[in-house]
Amino acid sequence: MKKLRTIENLSARGKRILMRVDYNIPFDQDGEISDDSRIRESLETIQLLLQKGGKIILISHLGRPEGKIVEALRLNKVAKCLENLLKKTIRKLDESIGEKVQEQVEQMREGDIILLENIRFHEEEEKNDPKFVQQLAALGDIFVNDGFGVSHRAHASSYGLGTILPAYAGLLIEKEVQALSKLLDTSEKPFTLILGGAKIKDKLGILENFIGKADHFLIGGGIANTFLHAQGVSIGQSLCEKDMAEKAKKIFQKNFEIPSDVVIAKEPSNEAKTKIVSSKKIPDDTKIFDIGPETIKKFTDIIHASKTIFWNGPMGLTEFTPFQNGTREIAKAIAETDCTSVIGGGDSSEIIKQLGFSEEQFTHISTGGGASLEFLSGKELPGIKILYE
Ligand code: ADP
Ligand code: MG
Repeated sequence: MKKLRTIENLSARGKRILMRVDYNIPFDQDGEISDDSRIRESLETIQLLLQKGGKIILISHLGRPEGKIVEALRLNKVAKCLENLLKKTIRKLDESIGEKVQEQVEQMREGDIILLENIRFHEEEEKNDPKFVQQLAALGDIFVNDGFGVSHRAHASSYGLGTILPAYAGLLIEKEVQALSKLLDTSEKPFTLILGGAKIKDKLGILENFIGKADHFLIGGGIANTFLHAQGVSIGQSLCEKDMAEKAKKIFQKNFEIPSDVVIAKEPSNEAKTKIVSSKKIPDDTKIFDIGPETIKKFTDIIHASKTIFWNGPMGLTEFTPFQNGTREIAKAIAETDCTSVIGGGDSSEIIKQLGFSEEQFTHISTGGGASLEFLSGKELPGIKILYE
């Protein structure tokens, strides 16, 4: 068994620790943080490194500035939130490399925390540019990766740093890898995989990897439309990846459940007039926006009899209240079942919290969307590969 190099036995006193975190968190319409879970999930590692007398230099990205400075994507609010949670002053810098940063780092004392500016303001970050990696690495003695959500990317701060500095897994990455590895290696059966969301392309890897391993596949959300379409069902104006129809047809197995009834409307809105119809009778001028009651019953019966569940992707267009029911009922069924339940996906975890469920109702809610899917596809993630002994 591969073992992660963890921080438990790391001697950190006086060391400058470059710590990659994933503070790519959602903001509401007023520009306020709407879910701070990813910040809270990093606290344990930060606190342990502080106790050990380390100097912590935090690195994160936010959004997609694509190599340019975008004022709205500065990490100032993130720093404030972290300060409140840690009850400790954070020195937030307006740059992530360069002389000023170097100076600030030199002045650090044991137990100090610096947060560098949004690392994706530099295009070299996503390119894993060797010179950029060197410049960043010069700021620290040790690299701790705790940004699980970006560990599937071979970027400078998620991967590059670990190729030239001694690299360790933070507690969050350790927890994520443990929870997800268990699903791959030793899951109690029946095992049910629930997939929804928008793009089937993102989910093919996990589907392929779990054929033969999972007992049931429950498929809802936009991706179910592509499966329905692939079976020759007319799905009106619904979201559908027509170019994936062949793939969807090929991968389809006997134990795949797709919706037998659905919630339709002409256009999505909070006031939309909805109708429940059989998925074989979808009017040409409507779109599928959620799974229907018969499908919910079928799915929840299977969930109640399951011992292990992995869920990624909402069952409907949950941005609008009339289409949240399927997702709510699935979450409720999982929460009331005595099983190991793991949820992955940014939209999925955000919506279940918004619907009033708490983290304690599930075994593990992953902080990584793409990362958890790639991990469960059986791929080796670059940001984790560098952390093995
Ligand atoms: P996650 O972030 O949890 O991995 P995805 O990003 O794959 O999930 O998918 C979430 C998106 O899928 C949401 O924006 C949701 O509105 C959309 N979606 C789900 N069902 C439908 C549907 N029937 N039609 C259109 N979009 C849908
Ligand atoms: Mg998403």
